[in-house]
Amino acid sequence: MTETVFAKIIRRELPADIVYEDDQVLAFRDINPQAPTHVLVIPKVEIATVNDIQPGQAELVGRMVLAAQRIAAEEGIAEDGYRLVVNCNRHGCQEVYHLHLHLIGGRQLRGISAG
Ligand code: AMP
Repeated sequence: MTETVFAKIIRRELPADIVYEDDQVLAFRDINPQAPTHVLVIPKVEIATVNDIQPGQAELVGRMVLAAQRIAAEEGIAEDGYRLVVNCNRHGCQEVYHLHLHLIGGRQLRGISAG
């Protein structure tokens, strides 16, 4: 698999504003935030896309969601709400081929459009 910028962030070869870390999950602020809170939650193991998640990685994906839940609370956006987004492949506009949840909030978001 092609090396991604997120692999470099995991290895601390690229700087990132890390907001959460445990043995399996890392979360850091998006370099091009779309809202006051825009955090990316990633697994430390390399999984390219949602299509590549294996059944045995179900707990890991759950840990990513729980990390996002915790960060949302820490950011003070849990009650007002937020959005978790995963883009997949070309039609989903995925740019970085290392699985990530976008945690986006801190302002009123628009409805998800088809385009
Ligand atoms: P996606 O289109 O779902 O693959 O989103 C990739 C996201 O990664 C984009 O929102 C980028 O702004 C973000 N991104 C790319 N490089 C970095 C970086 N070095 N540090 C933080 N976020 C990044």
